[in-house]
Amino acid sequence: MTISDVRKRIENDSVQAVVAESITRAKDDMHNALIEIVEDRAIDRSKELDQIDIADRKKLPLFGIPFVAKDNILTRDSHSTAASKILDNFSAPYQAEAIERLEQAGAVCIGKVNLDSFGHGGSTENSFFGPTLNPHDKRRVAGGSSGGSAAAVAADIVPFALGTDTGGSIREPASFCGVVGLKPSYGSVSRYGVIAMASSTDVVGVLANSVIDVEAVMRVVSGRDSKDSTTIDSPYDKTAQHKKRIGVIKEWFGNGVDDEVENAVTSTISRLEGLGYQAEEVSLPILESALAIYYVIVPAEIASNLARYDGVRYGNRSENNELKTMFRSSRSAGLMPETKRRILIGNYILSSGYYDAYYKKAAQARTLLLRGFTDIFDQFDALVGPVAPTSAFELGHKSDPLSMYMMDKMTVPASLAGLPAISVPVKTSGMPVGIQIVAAQNNDAALLTIAEDIEAVNS
Ligand code: GLN
Repeated sequence: MTISDVRKRIENDSVQAVVAESITRAKDDMHNALIEIVEDRAIDRSKELDQIDIADRKKLPLFGIPFVAKDNILTRDSHSTAASKILDNFSAPYQAEAIERLEQAGAVCIGKVNLDSFGHGGSTENSFFGPTLNPHDKRRVAGGSSGGSAAAVAADIVPFALGTDTGGSIREPASFCGVVGLKPSYGSVSRYGVIAMASSTDVVGVLANSVIDVEAVMRVVSGRDSKDSTTIDSPYDKTAQHKKRIGVIKEWFGNGVDDEVENAVTSTISRLEGLGYQAEEVSLPILESALAIYYVIVPAEIASNLARYDGVRYGNRSENNELKTMFRSSRSAGLMPETKRRILIGNYILSSGYYDAYYKKAAQARTLLLRGFTDIFDQFDALVGPVAPTSAFELGHKSDPLSMYMMDKMTVPASLAGLPAISVPVKTSGMPVGIQIVAAQNNDAALLTIAEDIEAVNS
């Protein structure tokens, strides 16, 4: 289901009918994609939209289009839980800027979708509400942490979903569920009203069934916001020159990458060459350290950002009256084991005796990674490789944290460097697989032109 399919349905019927159908599909969903359906608000909004004159509808680029949002993005008239127990009763007093912009453009939020609690994970198994199942095979994970967003689009509940990506959380589930998933340049979408994981890499992005749909949504949600000083002018308003020099990242092949993934990606690259692309292997040795850099920097930021969930201001508070005991027991009961692990690692890394050895060193290495990318983008318009070493694995298959972290090897570099990156589905005989394209910062428009070519050679 694409946005233009839904548009046609609205023209022949009404927004209310389209939104009601979407809500019915959400209620019937067998993949545990949704945490909450925002029914009353969605129906009210669609009635209002149906009153708008035909001429005025043209001014609303997403008129009547239903969507879902990851449950770490604040929405009105619903809960916003981040799939955690500590926030399972939390209703935000305001709404995220990205949601505001979508509503102003005529889109209708019908529900909040599942994730790895606070974004911590790569499979959506680490949710207080249980795992999301992959619509292509229910024995397998949907990927994560935006697994609910990817599954809702893949199961045709809605034509697009908002997700967040801190180290791969849009791209990996998009690859696993066979949908397009874009992590835009850092700062291109406001983080106002987004529950923070790691502020220096968190971005809001889009999952949809086509590159054109992703672009249509990005044009609405991106751009400066006075409530988030890290935002930039929308890189989606630029017209991109179509350039065709692509670097194939050597470090992302061989060594732990499944044959089916490697073959799917390399055959797509050959088909791109058929369209006049010049592909050349390129090596960036610091990429071998990206995972280590990420799993130092990100837990440090998590430990800081999650200190606010102490039972005092937000969500669930334990019964205990003594302050320190109350903090401890609220956090003990309300946070998932993976979240606690990251808080422990983060506080350890930031403690005075270890800061120089870990945090400072990781920050320096991150600068080297950034420089490495800058040099490479002098020679290439975009970089390509797999999104993850494998396709969707079976539920419960990666119970040890390290094997789960290894899945992030190819997605964390673009996050650490703030670069735009996208997963586009490619042809396979088995479970879906995505190819990843990475472009230089703010070259999102160029990234999308290449993504469209990849879509074309795989259709
Ligand atoms: N899988 C990665 C992690 O666990 C990425 C998560 C994300 O992007 N939110 O940190």
